[in-house]
Amino acid sequence: MAGETVLLVDDDRLILQVSQDALARAGYKTICLENGDQLASTVAALLPDLIVLDIMMPGTDGLSLCRKLRTGAEPYRGPIIVASAKHYRADKLLASEVGANAFLEKPFEPERLVNMVREFLTRKISVRFWGVRGSIPTASRETVGYGGNTPCVELQVAGVESIFIWDGGTGLRELGRSIRGRKEGVRGYLCFSHFHWDHIQGLPFFEPAYVAGNEFTLVGPAQPTADLLQVLSGQMASVYFPVGVEQFGARLMFDEIGEGTTMLGGVQFDTLSSFHPGRALIYRLVHGGKRVIYATDNELPPHWMNAGGTAVHEVERFLRFFAEADLLIHDAQYTPEELERRRGWGHSAWTDVVDLAAAAKVKRLVLFHHDPDHSDAFLDSLLVLAEKRAASSGTALTCDLAREGDLIVL
Ligand SMILES: [Zn+2]
Ligand SMILES: [Zn+2]
Repeated sequence: MAGETVLLVDDDRLILQVSQDALARAGYKTICLENGDQLASTVAALLPDLIVLDIMMPGTDGLSLCRKLRTGAEPYRGPIIVASAKHYRADKLLASEVGANAFLEKPFEPERLVNMVREFLTRKISVRFWGVRGSIPTASRETVGYGGNTPCVELQVAGVESIFIWDGGTGLRELGRSIRGRKEGVRGYLCFSHFHWDHIQGLPFFEPAYVAGNEFTLVGPAQPTADLLQVLSGQMASVYFPVGVEQFGARLMFDEIGEGTTMLGGVQFDTLSSFHPGRALIYRLVHGGKRVIYATDNELPPHWMNAGGTAVHEVERFLRFFAEADLLIHDAQYTPEELERRRGWGHSAWTDVVDLAAAAKVKRLVLFHHDPDHSDAFLDSLLVLAEKRAASSGTALTCDLAREGDLIVL
C-alpha cells in the first residue's frame, strides 16, 4: 500500500540506495540510516511502519539494536526484517529471539525486499486464540486438542503499540505468560463481551496486571447495578480469592460502553448487543479496510433461515453488522438438537451460524465457545459438516473451528 514508511538501516550506501529506489517505485516512503546511533530517536520521532535492519555493521551489533527496539520503554511493535550475509541457522534463531520478524539473506534482489515489505504491511491484523471453550474450563484428555481454556482472543494491529484483548476467560493467564519477557510498559485494552464466569476468571491470574508500569483499560458493557470496577472486583472478594484488585500494580482504567463506535488506542471498534442473558456486546474491529468480529455468547433464532418472518427480522441487524467481514468469530456451542433443550441460555447452533455468515457474505468464519461436553473427536466431525455446509452455500465462505494457540493473520 502506498505511503507507508520503511526505515532502512545499513552501513552500505549502495544497498541503501538500491533498496530505497525499489521501495519508492513500489510506493513506499523510506528513511535511511547508515548506523544505529540515531535509531531509537528516529523510530520515536517518525514511527516507521517497518524497519529493515542490517545486523552486521562496523562497531554496531544489529541484534542488540533489535532487542533494544523490542524491549525499550516504548517498544517498537511493527515488523522488523533483519538482513545479514551470515546465513547460519543459529544466527537466524538469534534474530528471532531478539524480536525480528523475518530474516533476509544478503545479497538480495531489491524485488525480494519489496515483496517481503509488502507482505508485512498488507497483513495488518493478527488474531490469536488463547481460550476457545465455553462455560467452564475443561482439562480432560478428550478436549486438549481444541483446548480447554475459556474465551480469550488477542489482537495485534501492525503499527499500533497497544494490544487488544477480547474477554478475560482462563486463556488470559496464558496470554499474560506470553508477554512476561517484555519489559514494563505494556499497554492494552481488555474488552469484555460480558461478565459471566467464563469471560472473567483469567483476570486474577493475568500477570501483567500486577506489574507496575503497565497500563490496561478495561472495557465492557455498562451494567445497571454496578460499575465495572465493582463487577470485576466482585470475583476477587476475599471470600472467593486471596488477592484483591488493590494488589494490581498496573494502572487500570475503566471504560463502560454501550452500542456504538469507540476508538481504543487509535483503532476503531464498533459494538452491538448480542442475544444473551444480561447485557453483552459483540465487537467489530475496523482497521486498514479490514473487519474482524468477535461475537461470542449470541443466541440466534433456531433455523432462522427457514423459520419465517420474525426470526429473519431478528437477525437482520446481525446481517448488517457482520456484512462482508474478513473474519467472524462466532459462538457455536450447540448442535441444533442440543439447542432445543437449551433455549434461552444464550448460545447458537452451529448450523444457524454458518447460514448467517454465508448470508452476510462473511469471508472467513471461526466457530467458537465450544461446549465443555464436545470432545476433540466430536469437534473434528463437526468441522467436516460445517465446511460442507459453508461450501454448499454458494458463497466464498470458509469455515473453521477455533483452536487454542491458533494464529490468524489478516
Ligand atoms: Zn460464555
Ligand atoms: Zn455468557
